[in-house]
Amino acid sequence: MSALSISQYFPFPRVRIKRQWVLPDAKKAYLEAVPDSRFRPICHLCGKPANRIHSRERRWVRDLDFGPARVWIRCLYRKIVCPHCRQTPIEELDLFDPYLRVTKRLARYVFELSKIMTVQEVSRHLGLDWKTVKAIDRKFLEREYGQTDYQGLRILAVDEVSIRKGHRYLTVVLDYESGRVVWVGKDRKARTLRRFFSGMTREQRQKLEAVVMDMWDPYIAAVRTKVPHVKIVFDLFHVVAQFSRIIDKVRNSEYRKASQANKEVFKGARYLLLKNRSNIRRPKDRRHLEELLRLNKVINAVLILKDKLKHIWTYRSRTWAEKALEEWCALARAVNHPAVKKFAKTLCRYRYGILNHCEFPIHTGKLEGVNNKIKVIKRRAYGFHDVRYFSLKIIQAFAN
Ligand SMILES: [Zn+2]
Repeated sequence: MSALSISQYFPFPRVRIKRQWVLPDAKKAYLEAVPDSRFRPICHLCGKPANRIHSRERRWVRDLDFGPARVWIRCLYRKIVCPHCRQTPIEELDLFDPYLRVTKRLARYVFELSKIMTVQEVSRHLGLDWKTVKAIDRKFLEREYGQTDYQGLRILAVDEVSIRKGHRYLTVVLDYESGRVVWVGKDRKARTLRRFFSGMTREQRQKLEAVVMDMWDPYIAAVRTKVPHVKIVFDLFHVVAQFSRIIDKVRNSEYRKASQANKEVFKGARYLLLKNRSNIRRPKDRRHLEELLRLNKVINAVLILKDKLKHIWTYRSRTWAEKALEEWCALARAVNHPAVKKFAKTLCRYRYGILNHCEFPIHTGKLEGVNNKIKVIKRRAYGFHDVRYFSLKIIQAFAN
């Protein structure tokens, strides 16, 4: 037993520290806390005083470390009969959360640490089970961000995040103006986004003006059924990313085609390209060169198309944007490749969302930033098999 009193470091209201003992190596300290008999017990559910004691209970809870010592408190507390709640809840002691095995101040500390450290790191640092750490963090997150805050929304950005590559997705809704993540939902279906809009009041829905997104039909369908007045704007970054995949396709298929036609196309290519064209007499060599040039032509064409595509988003005049879009589609159709033609068709079909960009010139950098930050959260392995927890972590990361 230590002669030094440490009890003043444990100033919990409604509680009296009755005993304290520190192990000789000072690695562990124990305290015993009892309810302060000067107060009438109050209900932890409603905060009203109770009229009857139901039973007396005890439990061990972990507290903040005291110097190098881990601290445990043996808490004696009462179950009460609450006339308001008509239950027998435990009394409120301002010491521990009724559902957690740690003191309130340790729980707060775990929550703060979890903002900057992974669950595993916090668990190791405090010598707590990782499940306890996660439960504490999730409880605080649920309290702070569990309810969707639909206030002040005018322009939204909607995007998908893959949780496991190509398997499961989350839909992330961002307040475009503040950068706050408003909502995260499971999947990327029409009903996913419909669920988000369903949580809004009619007034809140009417205040919405535009939503920026990818050319993804389920999202478009959800906007059209739930908030038909809202303007859909397609995001440049997504459209260009989609076209880049077309470029890859073109490159692959062109190379494949070329090598099927003549396996030696690339082997002899250098010789043919360097040679003076009029000196190439053999018909076989001529065909070879033509093939090479054709191959380059298609690839060059799609590279030029990519630059021109980005340019469409720079217009502020709907008329000019429309003209640029038409020109682009005509050019793309002229390229002799089915994937490029198909993409031109798609772009034509979605023209409204590209032209809406003139009215709502929403920049794309913000969305990229969001995606990168979410990737960081994911990489830190916040146990994202728990989708709800992962979602709350995302909302928290963008709250400030
Ligand atoms: Zn009560």
